[in-house]
Order: sequence, then structure tokens, then C-alpha cells
Amino acid sequence: MSPIPRLLICLPLLFAAGPCKAWSTPPHQRITKAALDTLPKRLLDRFGTEVAPLVEIYCTFPDRYVEMERFGFVREGPSPRDASEIRPYCVRPDGQPMHGATGDRDMDLGTLVYLFERIVTNFSERRPGEAARYAGVLSHFIADSLSPPHAATPEELRGLAPRSAEAGDIDIHSAIERSLPEFTLGARVPRMAGAHILTAAEAILKQCYAGAGQNSKDLPSMVKAACARDERTLDVYRLRAGVKATEIFADALYTLSRMGEAPR
Ligand SMILES: [Zn+2]
Repeated sequence: MSPIPRLLICLPLLFAAGPCKAWSTPPHQRITKAALDTLPKRLLDRFGTEVAPLVEIYCTFPDRYVEMERFGFVREGPSPRDASEIRPYCVRPDGQPMHGATGDRDMDLGTLVYLFERIVTNFSERRPGEAARYAGVLSHFIADSLSPPHAATPEELRGLAPRSAEAGDIDIHSAIERSLPEFTLGARVPRMAGAHILTAAEAILKQCYAGAGQNSKDLPSMVKAACARDERTLDVYRLRAGVKATEIFADALYTLSRMGEAPR
């Protein structure tokens, strides 16, 4: 059996149900900024003055939506004040939330195609603020899909903890994903993910699943490190996941901003 069918068969096992708990805000901002930093200036300029809010606010929309919609919690500072303000960016017209990969390939592909289409259309129609808001949700979706503990349920994480560990009642999920070391992609040049929206979405989703598969494989080692409070080892996995998410987002954004170049 080739590796691809085997990966697809395992997809539902790669993601825990309910995508709301994953990277906290600083990792999302770090991933978004590091990806934008690799875009050619010509393409970055397509966002106009929306680059800063994309990094600071828009890439956190899915978490803020859940906080406001489910818990009535509104963050301080410049941000949406009500879930209805950002619902169009966080929930598909058919009611499916856009937050992180679910492992349902058709569902996830549908979400990526929807976000891609919104970004390209808004670029083409010169609405950089709208393109940036959907791009923020795309960044969040990719990052949460690669958040290491997102590959297991809380019960599974606890089941992976060594019995002899001084784990106490440590929140293993939070311990793994609470931070992300600083990084850049250096001189990496972003690549076209596909010539059309559908082929690009398929390629990006395949990369998200591959990254999640890698996380899933290494989760026992991560849980062991979390229980031992071994931050140095955890940082290796956090960094790998964060860099991979950034590369995937950078390629997606590069592809979409080129597709959305308005005819002169
Ligand atoms: Zn999230």
C-alpha cells in the first residue's frame, strides 16, 4: 500500500473533536507574521494597511468567535465586540465553523476552497481589508491543524502519560502548545501551491494532514516531555510544527495573492 492511502485511512484519528483548544494567541501571531515576512513586497502591498491588523487581530478571529459566541467573553483592546461581527469570516454559509482541520477530508477541503475563493475574489475586487480577514482565518486554520496536541483527545493525551511521571494533574494539552519559540523562515521563497483554487486547496490540505500525521507520530514523546516539564524537548516539536504551519500558510498566501492580482 502506498503511503498516501494509508494516511487518508487514518485521517479521522489525526484530529481531536472540537478545534477550539490549540495554539494560544502569541503563536498564531508569530506564525502569521513569519509567513507574511517571506512574501515579495509587491504581493505584501496588496494588503495595504491591513498587514498589522492581520497579524494582531484577524489571525485570532476563530478563537475570539468561540469565546464570544460560546462564553460571552470579549477581549480587551481593539477587537470585535460581538460574535456577529466576525461570523461571516469564521463560519461557512452552510453553518460549518472554519477553525482547524477536522480530519473529514471533504469538509476540510470545502473550508479551504471557500477561504481561498473569498481571498482571491476580495483581492481581485480591491478589498484588501476583506482579503486580510479571510487570510487571518486561513492562517488560524492551518496553524491549529498543526498544533501538536490537536492530534489527540484529552483522554488519549492522558493515556499517553507515563504512570511513573511526576505529572500530577498537569494539563498536558496546554503544556505542549502554550508557547512557540521565536523563529523566521529566513530566505525561504514561497512557492505556488497550485494553478487553480481547487488544486491549490488540495495541495495545502495534503500538507496540513502530513504535518498533523507527523505530530501524531511524535505525540508520545511530546507527552513524556510535558510530564517531565522538559521545555527544551517540547520546543523542538513546537518549533517544527510552527515552522511547518508557517511554510504552508506562506505558500497558500503567495498562491492566492498571485491569483488575485487584478488585471491591469
Ligand atoms: Zn483556535
